[in-house]
Amino acid sequence: MVLLTPGQPLELRDLPSPAPGPGEVLIAVHTCGVCRTDLHVVDGELPNPKLPLVLGHEIVGRVAALGARVTRFSVGDRVGVPWLGWTCGECSYCRSGRENLCDRARFTGYQRDGGYAELTVADERFVFPIPDGYSDTQAAPLLCAGLIGYRSLVAAGDAARLGIYGFGAAAHIVAQVARSQGRRVFAFTRPGDEIAQRFALELGATWAGDSTGQPPEQLDAAIVFAPVGALVPAALRAVAKGGTVVCAGIHMSDIPSFPYSLLWGERVVRSVANLTRKDGEEFLALAGRVPLRCEVEPFPLARADDALRRLRAGEVRGAAVLTVAA
Ligand SMILES: [Zn+2]
Ligand SMILES: [Zn+2]
Repeated sequence: MVLLTPGQPLELRDLPSPAPGPGEVLIAVHTCGVCRTDLHVVDGELPNPKLPLVLGHEIVGRVAALGARVTRFSVGDRVGVPWLGWTCGECSYCRSGRENLCDRARFTGYQRDGGYAELTVADERFVFPIPDGYSDTQAAPLLCAGLIGYRSLVAAGDAARLGIYGFGAAAHIVAQVARSQGRRVFAFTRPGDEIAQRFALELGATWAGDSTGQPPEQLDAAIVFAPVGALVPAALRAVAKGGTVVCAGIHMSDIPSFPYSLLWGERVVRSVANLTRKDGEEFLALAGRVPLRCEVEPFPLARADDALRRLRAGEVRGAAVLTVAA
């Protein structure tokens, strides 16, 4: 496994196999996606991670052993483990269909050990079956990039013209979902990133350009995936009256002040936090119907550091995925 310890670089270590609790499954990890959130954890931008920690919350593998009370899965089932690892089930958020906001929620690869490892354990209630038609490598990005992207798309409402700021792992999946729904996609990238702009156009975007510029027409909504606060007023400037700007990342640099006129006209700025199990069920059912092509750059587990470095530099096309066992 690859371990994050305080003040140390990621370190490859051999540790004993974790034992599943009564309601948990032991999973032999095949692949694990590398998410920008992992960088935020490594950089200490999210409070109180479990340390030492095994990162990784886009886990695909096979069930290898069952806790005594497991009922939903059998040994050998192909499963996925997302970011949401546990919720209390009792608080007002959990009881009103908003378990993504549970104050006591525990997240995979942050407060529970995740999938940068050969083996991991997960609470069976928060584990999903993986749809057929996706290889283990292709399926990994569905579990966060796809899922959070889907929740963001739903939050963007009925927008026919959708802006996407930051064309990485989540955006490249959301663009395909949006196209399958007949929406038009406008992709904004780092200035001069022609590779990402071409990639967006290949995936059916109507237009692709620099995030510092304006789209050729007004948008009905925009999703900001890049962790750059300055993009929020930029996106507000690009959306028409009544439009929503959805901030999809878990962490963002400060949003600069902006004139009220950018918000006026019933424009809305909102964030999307985490996911619910319902989001997961809906999105994976959709992924089973609509063939999504995940563009993946694979890395062996021992090169997790390298994957994170390339993600930080904006050098990954689509999603970085650790391949642990084929
Ligand atoms: Zn993630
Ligand atoms: Zn709760």
